[in-house]
Amino acid sequence: MGKICDRNYAGNSMYTMKMIDGVGCCPNCNKPAICHNASVESRALFWALSGDTGNSSRTIAGHMTGNLVESDMMPPGDRDDRSRCIRLLELIPEWLPRLDEMKKYDAPDTKPEGVVINNSGIGAYDNSWSKQIPLIAKEGNFYA
Ligand SMILES: [Zn+2]
Repeated sequence: MGKICDRNYAGNSMYTMKMIDGVGCCPNCNKPAICHNASVESRALFWALSGDTGNSSRTIAGHMTGNLVESDMMPPGDRDDRSRCIRLLELIPEWLPRLDEMKKYDAPDTKPEGVVINNSGIGAYDNSWSKQIPLIAKEGNFYA
């Protein structure tokens, strides 16, 4: 795992690939070779068609590209959700500095503590982007 590297596959035919889930990937960063040196829009389209999407990662992609769907807008609910967000952000690290923008979708905390999600210490009823973003950053090693 890691952010996409700066290899230019189109410009250097000597770069090798390794197959991951049927996709030719870079052995350096494990991200699809086709996404290297590609525009944000191209990488976002690859991601959108990859099947590796969920409600919270769609919310990030929708916000960042101005295509937010009202039925999304959900913060991650568990580690699997965060992992999908992390894989999206590894593919499009340009969105990392803007991640705090997601906090504007948080509703004010008015509900009582509910079930604690995935040992995160975050209750199901007060889950929010404000609480999940630090976990995404930590689990994704984005600020290490
Ligand atoms: Zn790479």
